Amino acid sequence: MHGNEPCGAYALARLIKRMVRPLRGRLTLAFMNPAAAARRNGDGSHGARAVEEDLNRVWSAGALGGPGASLELTRARALRPLLASVDTLLDLHSMHCDGPPVILAGAAPKGVALARAVGAGLPIVIDRGHAGGTRLRDYAGFGDPASPTSALLVECGQHDDPAAVELAYAVSLRFLAHWGLVEPRPSQLSAARPAPEIEVTDTITVQTGPFEFAAAYRSLDVVPRAGTLIGRDGAREVRTPYDACMLVMPSYLLGPGDTAVRLGRLRAV
Ligand SMILES: [Zn+2]
Repeated sequence: MHGNEPCGAYALARLIKRMVRPLRGRLTLAFMNPAAAARRNGDGSHGARAVEEDLNRVWSAGALGGPGASLELTRARALRPLLASVDTLLDLHSMHCDGPPVILAGAAPKGVALARAVGAGLPIVIDRGHAGGTRLRDYAGFGDPASPTSALLVECGQHDDPAAVELAYAVSLRFLAHWGLVEPRPSQLSAARPAPEIEVTDTITVQTGPFEFAAAYRSLDVVPRAGTLIGRDGAREVRTPYDACMLVMPSYLLGPGDTAVRLGRLRAV
C-alpha cells in the first residue's frame, strides 16, 4: 500500500515463491502501489510512501467517484472490481515511529473479533481512521458493521526492520489459516495470549502546523496525567484529555490534514 513499507511486498513474494495455494476459495495477492515502491529517493534508496497522494486515504465513494485525478486514484479505481470480490482483506504496513507492531481493527465489533481470532497476541487498536481520507480497511463493506466482509490492517514494525517481514509473513499465514485457506502451523494451534485492546478516543489532526511533539514519543507510550502537554500545532497546545492516555503511532513527517497521533485508553479485556 505504501511504497516505503516493504514488509508486505516481501511477505507476498514469499507466499508466491513457496507456492501457497488456497485449500478453498480464492487467494489474491496484490502489490497495491508498485509505482511508489519503484520511486528513487534523493539518498538513492527506493520506495516512497506515495507518488501523488496517499493510496490509503482514497477509499470512499466520494473520492473514487469524484473528479480527483492522481496516479493513486487511477490505481484505486482500477482495483475496485477486484476489491468488490473480496470477502476478507489483510492490509500489511510498517511504521516510521518506534514502537511495537499493532493490529488496526477499525471501529466495528467484527474487526475486533477477527483481530482476536487471528491473534498473534499483537495489541489491537480500535479506531475510526483519519480525517484526511478513508483507508482501504474501512472501504465499503469492510467498515460497515452490517456487511459480512471484513478487513484488518497490521502495522508489522519499523519500515526497514527485517523482523517486520517475518511478522508480515506469520500474520498472513495466521490469517489464511483462520479462514481455512491453509492448514494451521503447529505453533498456531495453541491459544494466543489475550492481546491488549486500545480504544482510540481522539485523533489529533494537524490544523495549521508546524506540528511538534513535546518529547520523542514511541507508539503506545502512556502519558500518566491528564492535561500533560504532548505537542504544539502552530500556536495550539495539544494536551492529554485523561489519565493513562496512550499515544498510538505518533507521526513525525506531517503537513496540515495529516494525523499527528491517536489518543487511546486500554480496554479492560
Ligand atoms: Zn502504511
